[in-house]
Amino acid sequence: MSSFPVTKTSTPKAKPDPHHLKFGRSFTDHMFMMEYDEKEGWHNGRVIPYAPLSLEPAAVVFHYAQEMFEGLKAYKSKDGRVLLFRPDMNAKRTTRTNQRLCIPALSEEVMVEAIQAVVDVDRDWIPEKPGTSLYIRPFIIADEPFLGVSPAAHYLFMIILSPVGPYYEQGLMPTKIFVEDEYVRATPGGTGEAKIGANYAIGLKAQVKAHEKGYEQVLWLDGIERKYVEEIGTSNAFFFIGDEVITPPLGGTILPGITRDSVLHLLKDWGYKVQERRITIEEVFEAGKAGHLKEMWATGTAAVISPVGELSWKEEKITINRGEIGALSQRLYDYLYGVQTGAVEDAYGWTLEVK
Ligand SMILES: *Cc1c(COP(=O)(O)O)cnc(C)c1O
Repeated sequence: MSSFPVTKTSTPKAKPDPHHLKFGRSFTDHMFMMEYDEKEGWHNGRVIPYAPLSLEPAAVVFHYAQEMFEGLKAYKSKDGRVLLFRPDMNAKRTTRTNQRLCIPALSEEVMVEAIQAVVDVDRDWIPEKPGTSLYIRPFIIADEPFLGVSPAAHYLFMIILSPVGPYYEQGLMPTKIFVEDEYVRATPGGTGEAKIGANYAIGLKAQVKAHEKGYEQVLWLDGIERKYVEEIGTSNAFFFIGDEVITPPLGGTILPGITRDSVLHLLKDWGYKVQERRITIEEVFEAGKAGHLKEMWATGTAAVISPVGELSWKEEKITINRGEIGALSQRLYDYLYGVQTGAVEDAYGWTLEVK
């Protein structure tokens, strides 16, 4: 089906035990690779055996972090179809990230076709146990060898695939979140809305601090006043307060999540009052203490919906929904996961079958 040449591996690997899949630890037999140079633009797209790369130590990516990535999943439906969830949105986001990082534009059609091509070759690697999937990681690195600070003239676009287990072994599990009021992730005019490795490197310190204190994730506050809620770790934040659902607006410092966008669609269609507006951490705690904060959850490709059971900010702690999964969190998860796996009718045309 695809126009990309395929070279199959001569040494297929053993597939990991579907009952003990860890996130992002094992990779399939093949990968996609494409190159960019100034003369030919993006060219030489191909599916080849998964293998180490050979790069010059002077490659720009190692020194100045000119790198972007994406993340999505392929699911196998009960009747054996291979489904991608809104891959066109990942391609659109890639266009915006590339612009921000001075990476040459990659055609959105080519990107979606490349994802389909490599997933098709490794479709037998998609685990079938409930909750499992094939995580797809497209990324671009600047591999030109030079130590000047300017956009590189040579790049690699690659896609690797990793069979992954359910994010939470026992189904949805409420998490404990630490509100970070020292370190920040993004500032206006910075790169918060771009999906780039650099944003993750600068977030590690806070993540480690939260883990040491016994929390699973960090809730990021705005970079200027440390007052407004931005994101939760690597996912977007939602608050169900009174009869309204509130999520921080996309304004340059927040990653425009595809799960976030899907949840906004669903909530509006289900008749909920939804607001994309700035919300202070103080408002969240006041609502929590007054008993108006009914539910809170994070959205992202990895866990889809991740309910939050406890929040800690400075010396204060609040428990949300008695630390249990809320009805709306569960409904959103069931619907989205159902569409992704082909069990619920795809009323929005969100899935793309890899044929
Ligand atoms: C990828 C990502 C998200 C979630 O985006 P999805 O498209 O829903 O997976 C949220 N925040 C950050 C920082 C991210 O990198």
